[in-house]
Amino acid sequence: MIPASSMIDPFGREITYLRVSVTDRCDFRCVYCMAEDMTFLPKKDLLSLEELERLCSVFINRGVRRLRLTGGEPLVRKNIMHLVRQLSGHLKTGALEELTLTTNGSQLERFAGELADCGVRRVNLSLDTLDSEKFQAITRWGVFDKVKRGMDAAQEAGLKIKINTVALKGFNDQEIPEMLRWAHGRGMDMTVIETMPMGEIDADRTDQYLPLSQLRAQLEQQFTLTDIPYKTGGPARYVEVAETGGRLGFITPLTHNFCESCNRVRLTCTGTLYMCLGQEDAADLREPLRASEGNELLSHAIDEAIGRKPKGHDFVIDRKTRRPAVSRHMSVTGG
Ligand code: SAM
Ligand code: SF4
Repeated sequence: MIPASSMIDPFGREITYLRVSVTDRCDFRCVYCMAEDMTFLPKKDLLSLEELERLCSVFINRGVRRLRLTGGEPLVRKNIMHLVRQLSGHLKTGALEELTLTTNGSQLERFAGELADCGVRRVNLSLDTLDSEKFQAITRWGVFDKVKRGMDAAQEAGLKIKINTVALKGFNDQEIPEMLRWAHGRGMDMTVIETMPMGEIDADRTDQYLPLSQLRAQLEQQFTLTDIPYKTGGPARYVEVAETGGRLGFITPLTHNFCESCNRVRLTCTGTLYMCLGQEDAADLREPLRASEGNELLSHAIDEAIGRKPKGHDFVIDRKTRRPAVSRHMSVTGG
């Protein structure tokens, strides 16, 4: 039996948040996230759902209180609800405070009811435009109406939705005020995200990059934004929008370093643990997971990994080489 000891990194940050990318595959091909023709991780390297559940349970035993499933698109992984149901057991015991999901919404119509039934209370839904033609252009393969139906189903099932929008110069910067009114009108918070230089894509990131300081100044011409201390466990800084009564979050990995309060690590579907989204260093947990039925080896490997968690990331969009700062795609570590 492993003692329930917490995970503290060399900078004194306690790790209480785990993001699990349950698959790197997706039914969309968002232009800032993936190339159209992607090579995915070999299926033989994937952890089974049982192995993922065991890994998550060890992390929960070690002090993880919030767990987010992401991807790729988490809801396209076969039998994903089996994992959700297993993990929901930790909600019932109180070991886990929150189980959430980041999704593109394409499968929500099908799964919203079951997610709510498993104790999922809120989901992050990624949406970059309300215009169905633009939606198709940015996701390449997505259908806006299907996502809209998913959103309706989620709200009917009682799930709270937060809209995540990647701010893209020349694509949605003019539309964000309308999206904000729309989201707040439906009782949904919204977060805007700067594009991060991760993985080779078919587009040029320096063309897409829109600093959120610029977006905020633009929004302040129409809205009264007041900084508030609201936190959801993530890196967003929130403002309250007086005109709509809703909250707007800013995630600014490039213009503002959010690392000092980082409480998270990220696990991939092959059992690789990334201690920082913006660094290449990683630890393999699959080997210790499979090497024995007990969890001692695994717990030891986790300690060693947490001991290497870096102080912060080095994201920068290199204008000279135009190469990504981190070679893996966001869909591997799941944002
Ligand atoms: N497929 C799900 C979705 O789209 O919500 C979950 C995975 S997706 C990788 C998680 C989040 O990362 C999404 O909100 C997406 O917009 C964002 N994202 C993907 N690539 C990004 C990039 N290069 N920079 C910033 N955000 C990115
Ligand atoms: Fe898929 Fe999400 Fe990446 Fe879009 S952002 S391609 S939905 S993983």
